[in-house]
Amino acid sequence: MTGGPGTGRGQKGEGRVTPGAGDVTEFGLIAAIARRVGTHPDAPVGIGDDTAVLTIPPGRQLLAACDSMVADVHFRIRPGHGYAVGRKALAVNLSDIAAMGGRPAFALLSLAVTPDVPRPFLWDVVRGLADEADAFGVGLVGGDTVSAPRDFSIHVTVLGHVEAGRAVTRKGARPGDLLCVTGHLGASAAGLALLEHPDASVPDPVREVLVRSHLQPRARVEAGEELAEGIATAMMDISDGLAGDVRHLCRESGVGAVIDARRIPIADATRTAARALGADPLRWALGGGEDYELLFTAPAGACPPDGVLPRSGTPVTIIGEIVTASEGITLIDGRGRRRALEIHGFTHF
Ligand code: ADP
Ligand code: MG
Repeated sequence: MTGGPGTGRGQKGEGRVTPGAGDVTEFGLIAAIARRVGTHPDAPVGIGDDTAVLTIPPGRQLLAACDSMVADVHFRIRPGHGYAVGRKALAVNLSDIAAMGGRPAFALLSLAVTPDVPRPFLWDVVRGLADEADAFGVGLVGGDTVSAPRDFSIHVTVLGHVEAGRAVTRKGARPGDLLCVTGHLGASAAGLALLEHPDASVPDPVREVLVRSHLQPRARVEAGEELAEGIATAMMDISDGLAGDVRHLCRESGVGAVIDARRIPIADATRTAARALGADPLRWALGGGEDYELLFTAPAGACPPDGVLPRSGTPVTIIGEIVTASEGITLIDGRGRRRALEIHGFTHF
């Protein structure tokens, strides 16, 4: 760490982030971010000018996405949680690039800072985000900093790139393709449930791994790139819950699907937490959301036969198959009964 948000004082007097909330100015914060971030080889101009100047490799197409996180909607301003909030704010964006089969390269960070955000929390957000960027070789190359009367929010824009013509969209699924997911599902929802029920009796290591899944998800960037190399016909990341996201993918591709609940990968830790809380782990997997695993379709012959992507070592599980749109979306439940998929994913409205 090269300094806190107060260390750039004296550059310019105006533009306080939060009037009366201490000595931190907008410019002090930006200067501190710039020092923490340093330079990036593909950004000859980064923080400090009117725009960044960015280099992308020839023959690649630019990918762009943004995601916002708002206090009390996506996270809470709790002491000690700022770092994970910052990491997650970027991770969810990296996941979108991964879902196209791309490589994340740059990020921009906009902060709407409110009077109720403790300065250490704010700086932890920045630190977490910068560490997440470093972990993926992503350059934090700009952003915006404003004050807001309420609702501290973090807006991240991510830029990535993919070989021209190779981005994997949600539209490419065809009847007969297999429906697959990376990793396992429901752990993030289990972690959230444990945060909401701190008295639940589960072993510490179980609590730790699940809470971490929720607070600090890891984007499947390597797997996404690997899947884009002739395996996946359609792909998206699972942010709203499997049920809702399968629906999105099917709608975009103009197909239906059959999901076999018995094949949905659910970690032992998630099942342990479900038992302790009297919850249904399948509901977490289908509707919990925020797993940030990849949902993809692939022709049978393209799926790795042993369930592991050879280059990244990412586990993949076949959970069903794509059928025609007129067949709708069917769930085969734990007892082998077929019914229309009912559980919807998370929506904000
Ligand atoms: P402008 O008025 O031209 O938008 P700003 O004063 O908002 O300039 O920003 C100055 C520089 O600092 C710009 O390069 C901008 O990208 C960068 N910047 C501002 N806020 C942030 C932030 N939260 N994170 C990273 N860079 C930032
Ligand atoms: Mg600005």
